[in-house]
Amino acid sequence: MNTREMFAKAIKGGYAIPAFNFNNMEQLQAIIKAAAETKSPVILQVSKGARNYANQTLLRYMAQGAVEYAKELGWEHPQICLHLDHGDSFELCKSCVDFGFSSVMIDASSLPYEENIALTKKVVDYAHQYDVTVEAELGVLAGVEDEVSAAVSHYTKPEEVVDFATRTGCDSLAISIGTSHGAYKFTPEQCTRDPKTGRLVPPPLAFDVLDAIMEQLPGFPIVLHGSSSVPQEYVDMINQYGGKLPDAVGIPEEQLRKAAKSAVCKINIDSDSRLAFTAAVRKVFAEKPGEFDPRKYCGPARDLMTELYKHKIINVLGSDGKAE
Ligand SMILES: [Zn+2]
Repeated sequence: MNTREMFAKAIKGGYAIPAFNFNNMEQLQAIIKAAAETKSPVILQVSKGARNYANQTLLRYMAQGAVEYAKELGWEHPQICLHLDHGDSFELCKSCVDFGFSSVMIDASSLPYEENIALTKKVVDYAHQYDVTVEAELGVLAGVEDEVSAAVSHYTKPEEVVDFATRTGCDSLAISIGTSHGAYKFTPEQCTRDPKTGRLVPPPLAFDVLDAIMEQLPGFPIVLHGSSSVPQEYVDMINQYGGKLPDAVGIPEEQLRKAAKSAVCKINIDSDSRLAFTAAVRKVFAEKPGEFDPRKYCGPARDLMTELYKHKIINVLGSDGKAE
């Protein structure tokens, strides 16, 4: 399904839809299992990098298979959207629409304002012919995500959002209010340090900017990218078992929970599952150096990701039980 109805219900209900990226079978199984067990609508996100890594044809049929898998798990009416994350050209978005995606993102946020509008509108005009919903972006997030990166962020300007949404016809808007891509969202200089634990405390999200945007566009679906929390237990596990992730820090879950209760109706989480996967694999490698059956380390990784996704759905997004 596309995102139209999902988002309308999420805004009314004060929760957000999880948008989880997937690149391989174990990740997809974990996402579907978590969504089926909690009866949560879910957005399966595929980035350009994932399409290159896993092959676009394979990904498409994996997503179709996921719907059948969800039913097998006892989820009678699965609500699953297949979404392109960070489409960077009309051609890529068109290719995904033609390939059966139910939603696409055109991220032209690095272009000048008028060019962002023109490209977004072109994608919207094409996608809407096939009832495919379109997410656009205004404002720039810092950080690195697959092939998307920006050194300097700037917040979305609330005075631009009405003009942008009206002229492009986009269905949802990704905004920049201080979230950031990757596992290193903030430099130590941007943070304070908790004197007790020595851990970095990131700067708070700009809720004043979010409020101003919601005032301009009442009831319009807002999207947050780069919203991993970088759970310190996974960072610790990775470091304990031979990894090296100093000072990785994310967005505190309380802030995301607060955002989910507003017009923010899609929250993108990718890095946290990468951390869970890596932590579980490292643990097996460290404890059982003789292990060479990938199922014996990808299996535990899948279990830990399932746990993570369920935690996000229930405790952060509040989307459990919304797709009975
Ligand atoms: Zn993103």
